[in-house]
Amino acid sequence: RTRNPHETEFHQAVKEVLHSLIPVFSKNPSYMKLGILERLVEPDRLVSFRVPWMDDNGNVRVNRGFRVQFNNSIGPYKGGIRFHPSVNASIIKFLGFEQTFKNSLTGQPIGGGKGGSDFDPKGKSDLEIMRFCQSFMTELSRYIGPDKDVPAGDIGVGAKEIGYMFGQYKKLQGVYEAGVLTGKGIGYGGSLGRKEATGYGTVYFVDQMLGDAGLSFSGSTVVVSGSGNVSIYAIEKAMQLGAKVVACSDSSGYIYHKDGIRLDTLKRLKEVEKKRCRDYILEHPDAVYTEGCSGIWSIPCDIALPCATQNEIDKASAELLVQNGVKAVGEGANMPSTLEAIGVFLDNKVLFAPAKAANAGGVSVSALEMAQNSARLSWSMEEVDAKLQLIMKDIYRSSMMASMEYGAPGNLVVGANIAGFLKVADAMMAHGF
Ligand code: NDP
Repeated sequence: RTRNPHETEFHQAVKEVLHSLIPVFSKNPSYMKLGILERLVEPDRLVSFRVPWMDDNGNVRVNRGFRVQFNNSIGPYKGGIRFHPSVNASIIKFLGFEQTFKNSLTGQPIGGGKGGSDFDPKGKSDLEIMRFCQSFMTELSRYIGPDKDVPAGDIGVGAKEIGYMFGQYKKLQGVYEAGVLTGKGIGYGGSLGRKEATGYGTVYFVDQMLGDAGLSFSGSTVVVSGSGNVSIYAIEKAMQLGAKVVACSDSSGYIYHKDGIRLDTLKRLKEVEKKRCRDYILEHPDAVYTEGCSGIWSIPCDIALPCATQNEIDKASAELLVQNGVKAVGEGANMPSTLEAIGVFLDNKVLFAPAKAANAGGVSVSALEMAQNSARLSWSMEEVDAKLQLIMKDIYRSSMMASMEYGAPGNLVVGANIAGFLKVADAMMAHGF
């Protein structure tokens, strides 16, 4: 804390992992001797840079850009880029730290990194977004490469922003390195199934967890927070598996549609027209819109899928979910539950799928995109989806097995942290220091 003052999100992420690792260090003290922990919590490097760009009125604006390269013991740094006004060093470090364990869990050869900017894409024109992305990449391009560090999308960064950044990278480098970014458009090196991967993957993971408990999505009532990339495809897959999804949100408020959200309307509003959740009720007057997003957790449901942002479920929201009979929680977003909220779920025997494991589908398919780029091949949607399902099953199995081996059977927070840690730690030991 004294070394990294005010980095509350980073402290929170580290605390959760370190707590889980106590039995690992008791069993294998050599990790301690070789300073594995001290090395794991200190990123290889964190770069922070100025991003000047010109708005449509000819004013020069300046934002701050970041890239953290946390750990490349098992492969090139890999992790998304977030554009959101809340981005700072603490947020980027928590995301990069978590990414290291998540990427290890996927079984793919990728290390951990993350980046972003406090730029707010909301209300900006396409040209402003393009100029910003070009300026951001002008600096970022010094630090990345297909075998070095491979960024992708995250909050505020989708295929459009990736396209602008890819164009600028290509212009600066003078070579066509498709594998330098993932989440690209399908026509120029993107992978089918990447857009759907995080949301689908979260539902595949939760489905495994439910199956082991004799439960299923079929016939369940589900609440999904957010209405961005992860949320929309979590809603889609949950519906395909027979669930009724009754609520979703954005940062302004939430929709409750008793008979089930109409996904076609939501997709059009969010993906095409870039509108707000409040606009949904203009087309579906039987749905209810409420200002303010945290109230979404007061809606009774069997399964809650927080897919918006960090710390969106606090202790009070977790207690409300439990009182209303929630049976399972699957984290599609990164660190959406506070440590206290996780405690409430675990104490009340709610099945809990932690982000590191449950939302690893996105980066897994990003790694598949890298593989396709290297081989100059394009796999079909069916092929990618089949691989994604296998990967999510494997992540579930290895997290569950680690939880049993280290004395916390069924606790997937502990299991995912340990399973993710062991591979990275062993590679670090093999490489010396
Ligand atoms: P998007 O930008 O596509 O969507 C984010 C959504 O969350 C928007 O609907 C946004 O609303 C909403 N939101 C933001 N803050 C709040 C809030 N406080 N309460 C309710 N809703 C809110 O981002 P993604 O879907 O890509 O990412 C969502 C989460 O998933 C993040 O935590 C991200 O790190 C994580 N993730 C994403 C992956 C990916 O492949 N995209 C991979 C793994 C994890 P508004 O429009 O009002 O801002």
